[in-house]
Amino acid sequence: MNIILLGPPGAGKGTQARKLEEKFGLVQLSTGDMLRSSVARGEPLGLEAKMLMDKGQLVSDDIITGMIRERIKQPDCSRGFILDGFPRTVSQAESLDVMLAACQKEIGAVIELKVDDEALVDRVSGRFTCSQCGAGYHKKYKPLKIEGTCDVCGGHDFTCRADDNAETMKTRLKAFYDQTAPILPYYQSKGLLKTVNGMAPMNEVQEELESIIKHAHNSNKGM
Ligand code: ADP
Ligand code: AMP
Repeated sequence: MNIILLGPPGAGKGTQARKLEEKFGLVQLSTGDMLRSSVARGEPLGLEAKMLMDKGQLVSDDIITGMIRERIKQPDCSRGFILDGFPRTVSQAESLDVMLAACQKEIGAVIELKVDDEALVDRVSGRFTCSQCGAGYHKKYKPLKIEGTCDVCGGHDFTCRADDNAETMKTRLKAFYDQTAPILPYYQSKGLLKTVNGMAPMNEVQEELESIIKHAHNSNKGM
């Protein structure tokens, strides 16, 4: 089963995608993570993308769809994947349909996480990540159990994203409402869209997502 998690920056897509990976054996495909890895490796594509990412603007559709086209062909995606941060424009959604049809795959559910703008700014402002294992935290909502030590790997080094600040968030939110939100009717018309209250605590959001995915899985089996 292939899933799309849709929502503005800070909605909880990455947090939930990691839970769903564990629960259902799906692979998280985060275009933001892929771009940040490319930046860290010093690749030309990453360096081109970095200027836009730092300003909170979207990277070109061609770069992003090229990345996803290659990634979904990898063997680890055969059991299913969770798209996190892609598609982000109607053009990306249309390209996705073409590339999925070409490899006889399809999307089982598109899940929108709805969160107020004020909460989004609060979430990205407190977000940090373990530099060693990538585990995600939040100063208030998911603090470290032991000060200065990663719960997962015991690492002591943490990073914050350069674009996780109130100023850049204004541009990122505008990009979401202007360029990404028009995808919602696209998937609604295909009968794939489900909306979840992303303001709820993480474990409640997780339960809701699991129930949607199980239901979508059972409906697909009956077809
Ligand atoms: P996204 O991938 O959509 O940008 P994240 O999953 O990274 O968002 O979540 C942003 C921040 O908000 C993280 O620090 C995460 O710990 C926190 N967070 C995620 N879901 C919730 C929630 N339901 N309630 C409170 N904080 C949350
Ligand atoms: P994210 O980690 O999803 O918040 O993405 C971080 C940044 O990467 C965004 O602000 C964009 O600059 C870029 N990016 C990630 N995914 C996409 C996408 N699907 N289309 C265009 N730009 C993207």
